[in-house]
Amino acid sequence: MTGAILHRLDRLDCCITQNVDDLHQRAGLPADRVIELRGKATRTRCLECGAVYSRDEVHGWREVGGAVPACPACGGVVKPTTVLFGEAMPVREMEEAERRSRAADLFVVLGSSLVVYPAAYMPAHAKHTGATLVIVNLEPTPMDAQADLVIRDRAGRVMAAVLDGVRA
Ligand SMILES: [Zn+2]
Repeated sequence: MTGAILHRLDRLDCCITQNVDDLHQRAGLPADRVIELRGKATRTRCLECGAVYSRDEVHGWREVGGAVPACPACGGVVKPTTVLFGEAMPVREMEEAERRSRAADLFVVLGSSLVVYPAAYMPAHAKHTGATLVIVNLEPTPMDAQADLVIRDRAGRVMAAVLDGVRA
């Protein structure tokens, strides 16, 4: 995947994502370069005591018997750490995403219609602090008027061309 390659070429600070399935990490991007605004489906947490378990661990318990996964430490309900629509975004990730957006010199939006707030504020933070803003999306976004460059195309196709250019 493009992010991992750009990272290896030292051209990527971080990837801010709403994906919850470790997509970017599995493609080879180090975990500390991925900011997950909607949490992780691969990690679960006990709603009572806060203990954290991997999804694989919880699947193991289900096979043993229980229908609803219960925390081995306290018996509480264990739930994926994803953020559902309407729930608050994780504070630490939001702060980190905002900080890195403000520090960016180039901010590229890839395949997002930028309608889900507060994630959609990130390109605005970047733009306000002087970043060049590029938006790659098939449909118009509310930030198009503020972008330095808008490309109406698929993210994968555009980033393949970008990689050719970076490597040339
Ligand atoms: Zn617990």
